Amino acid sequence: MYDRVREADPAVADALGDELDRQRGTLAMIASENHASPAVLEAQGSVLTNKYAEGYPGERYYAGCGPSDEVESLAVERAKELWGAEHVNVQPHSGTQANMGVYLAMLDPGDRILSLDLTHGGHLSHGHPANFAGQLFEVEQYEVDPETGYVDYEGLAEQAEAFDPDIVVSGYSAYPREVEWERVQAVAESVDAYHLADIAHITGLVAAGVHDSPVGVADFVTGSTHKTIRAGRGGIIMTSEEHADAVDAAVFPGSQGGPLMHNIAGKAVGFGEALEPAFGEYAQQVVDNARALGDSLAENGLSLVSGGTDTHLVLVDLRDSHPDLSGGTAEDALEETGIVLNGNTVPGETRSAFDPSGIRAGTAGLTTRGMEEDALRQVGDLISRVVDDHDDPEVLDAVSEEVDALCADYPLYDDL
Ligand SMILES: *Cc1c(COP(=O)(O)O)cnc(C)c1O
Repeated sequence: MYDRVREADPAVADALGDELDRQRGTLAMIASENHASPAVLEAQGSVLTNKYAEGYPGERYYAGCGPSDEVESLAVERAKELWGAEHVNVQPHSGTQANMGVYLAMLDPGDRILSLDLTHGGHLSHGHPANFAGQLFEVEQYEVDPETGYVDYEGLAEQAEAFDPDIVVSGYSAYPREVEWERVQAVAESVDAYHLADIAHITGLVAAGVHDSPVGVADFVTGSTHKTIRAGRGGIIMTSEEHADAVDAAVFPGSQGGPLMHNIAGKAVGFGEALEPAFGEYAQQVVDNARALGDSLAENGLSLVSGGTDTHLVLVDLRDSHPDLSGGTAEDALEETGIVLNGNTVPGETRSAFDPSGIRAGTAGLTTRGMEEDALRQVGDLISRVVDDHDDPEVLDAVSEEVDALCADYPLYDDL
């Protein structure tokens, strides 16, 4: 693999080889990650990286866009079939750019966004002060119920009444439960605001019907295309015909130049894969696996935010079981054993975003490797052992060996 890179540039080839080995030899449990198919990788690495195709299919600003039109139209048509949206824009370079596209289409600087707090599971692009969304707009944030870990929909309604937002954002980065889109929609309507449902993490679960869909409920649905949907890297916006022109103009020329046509080819290929019946089974297995992982962690005495999961991820609050252990320290110890996940803030965070009180773990990547519930229960045991004895080298070594064996039993990218 990467022979041509090696000839031209050994240093980069070494790093690429290291990354392939890393993915093969570790358990990718960062909840936003997945392993795209070799076909998606090939499409993304294709000659389309050379092409400028500013504009949209049939209306480009440059010559030579026939194949680009073909690829983008395929991506759009497949996305419409997957999610049932009236209008789809597949050009956002990322999920963040997709959100930017919606804000720029519908809001003026200074307008008001009401979104979930980052430490409660929200996303930077929903209005954190360090992000453009927090700098351009006036942001207020809602929270999850500290007792249940579920979105506090009643609190949200009261806050909306008082704040009078122009847009309400739902859809989250570290939220293990199904979102009740209709309830957020009712809140948005009650204050005459738009509703943006950001399904970045759960695009694949929604496409497969294992999580309720906000398409046709919310005014706008955005997502990342490389998380649970496992397609080429980037973003997507879905909306009704009514807002189609505004969204398209906000993406290009509003906030981007030429589309990343190679990534759009990767999106088209990945969406095509997701239309196959096997993807439905995959998505259901992702959720079943997350439940098995959660059960195993809970049986080992760890505390799960909201008490469990309906999705691809679990969020562990370490404060109850391990008050002296931070999520960052747990993340480091787990990485030593080959379990790669992230320290994460939890609702009511008492440490900091850099060294938070929780860990977040997703099952999309391991499910792509073919793991089922038994393997995930084993992984839950391994995580618990590391968390219990994070500074005992013998425990870390023993866990490492089991991780190596799991990676060997569920090989990845065999044919690369
Ligand atoms: C991952 C994520 C995004 C965007 O991610 P990109 O890295 O920009 O693709 C947006 N919103 C939520 C809720 C996310 O989890």
